[in-house]
Amino acid sequence: MNQNPSACERPLHANGLPENVDTLAVFLDIDGTLLDIADTPDGIVVPPGLAQALARLTGRLGGALALVTGRSIATVDGLFPGVPAVVNGLHGSEWRDATGQVFGAEITAAFLAAKQLLRDKARQWPGVIFEDKGAAIALHYRLAPESEARVRELMQALATTVGPDWKLQEGKAVVELRPRGRDKGDALLQTMGHEVFANRRPLAIGDDVTDEAMFAAANRLGGLSVRVGGDLDQSHAQFRVDSPSEVRAWIERVAR
Ligand SMILES: [Mg+2]
Repeated sequence: MNQNPSACERPLHANGLPENVDTLAVFLDIDGTLLDIADTPDGIVVPPGLAQALARLTGRLGGALALVTGRSIATVDGLFPGVPAVVNGLHGSEWRDATGQVFGAEITAAFLAAKQLLRDKARQWPGVIFEDKGAAIALHYRLAPESEARVRELMQALATTVGPDWKLQEGKAVVELRPRGRDKGDALLQTMGHEVFANRRPLAIGDDVTDEAMFAAANRLGGLSVRVGGDLDQSHAQFRVDSPSEVRAWIERVAR
């Protein structure tokens, strides 16, 4: 799947993270990309100074920074207070655009019932963690790998119950039910339509299966795509870096 750009389009560094961001629009996943993955969704650590560096990067890019994540917008605001970036939450299902307007999915009674059932089930399964993201619900089994099969089975059953407006989304040791509709690729394409992003070249950085749609969209627009960890042979990404700390060091450098 790897589609490397021609030699003349290659950035200065082999890892695909250019030292000059003047003409770029940057799309950043959060967990596993900006932040190290933790055992529990609440266990992540935001290194000191990262929010400030992201705010500086947004200014450096003339506003063309978007956070594209499975987290809710509310959670992102809590993690990175005061960062004026565009936020695409719940894998693209809710978003706050460059003008600050917020869009999201409507919650149904069937979805609320599924949420309650999931919350109760998680209490009975040691180590399985329930995460309420508003319009999306997730079960994490990183601490209870033996529960993977029953977590999958329950989530599949709930996907049928809540109907076609929601879809199953798998990630690293997590199964999620999230609004159908936009994915991270749609989020990138739509965001690129905004005035502050237009005429820039997208650079998408992510680490997980949900980021693949974002990589493909960036490639389609002649942009750059960088995967954090994993195997490029299994990815649409053009380049690879080893860890979130490499991404953070790059942000510190280019946001200066
Ligand atoms: Mg991620």
